[in-house]
Amino acid sequence: MQIQTIGIVGAGQMGNGIAHVMSLAGYDVMLTDISADALTNAMETMRGNMSRQVGRGKILEADMEAALGRIKTTTTLTDLGPSDLIIEAATERETVKQAIFEDLLPHLKPDTILTSNTSSISITRLASRTDRPEKFMGFHFMNPVPVMQLVELIRGIATDEPTFAACKTVVERLNKTAASAEDFPAFIVNRILMPMINEAVYTLYEGVGNVQSIDSSMKLGANHPMGPLELADFIGLDTCLAIMNVLHDGLADTKYRPCPLLTKYVEAGWLGRKSQRGFYDYRGDVPVPTR
Ligand code: NAD
Repeated sequence: MQIQTIGIVGAGQMGNGIAHVMSLAGYDVMLTDISADALTNAMETMRGNMSRQVGRGKILEADMEAALGRIKTTTTLTDLGPSDLIIEAATERETVKQAIFEDLLPHLKPDTILTSNTSSISITRLASRTDRPEKFMGFHFMNPVPVMQLVELIRGIATDEPTFAACKTVVERLNKTAASAEDFPAFIVNRILMPMINEAVYTLYEGVGNVQSIDSSMKLGANHPMGPLELADFIGLDTCLAIMNVLHDGLADTKYRPCPLLTKYVEAGWLGRKSQRGFYDYRGDVPVPTR
């Protein structure tokens, strides 16, 4: 399977990062979002991030211009029809993802590979709603995509070997490392990471520590580069809550119960960095803890 054209659905923080690395690796990218503003912001973000890479001597200015030139944007999902590989990176909601694949399927080539960047939703279930479960798998990038080395590749129950091999080749062309994970709720990284973040929110909720003491404890005491609450804000609190709900529902174990304080932040629309407020307030020059 020769992959050259990649269709990316969703131009949020993950979608723009994926478009960034794919275009720099020489792939032609068609990026779509329901929001035209998200597409404009994504192009600006990519130019900003690539300019920083130029500044640090990681890429040449000519590489940046060529890469940006390989990215096309559209608000029409069906423009992704000619893609060899689809990477769905829209909002972490199963109904949203299912509707995207349903709308896209009639416009795709029969051998187009379908993938989702979902952090937690069952690949097997998403695949079963398509006409090609054997050509469907999880393609899970880490945030921020241009910086993080790992890509989790998740086989659904029906995923065939050529599909897995084709995706692994793409990861190698990105100079990233693939880790193979089985299709159980939240796969490997988030199965381990999210309960830790949720526990940090419980620690805050129960008054064991405040935002600052929890984050500095884990940075200085466990040598984590970011505190868990800072990291939650970076990931997006809506995404963290969605993943905890998938773990809780999928594994039916109370140890995965989302912390009510996490739910409250999401209900308030305090989603972390992307909405300028979460466990920290980012509206000023320096982040200020909100508790
Ligand atoms: P985000 O909120 O930044 O972006 C989601 C984008 O999807 C938005 O721009 C939204 O307009 C768009 N969208 C929603 N419905 C759509 C539709 N029907 N068609 C096209 N676009 C649509 O979210 P994100 O953080 O980029 O997360 C996207 C996916 O990546 C989720 O599945 C998430 O679980 C996964 N993921 C997130 C992280 C992270 O750290 N944030 C890491 C790995 C994977």
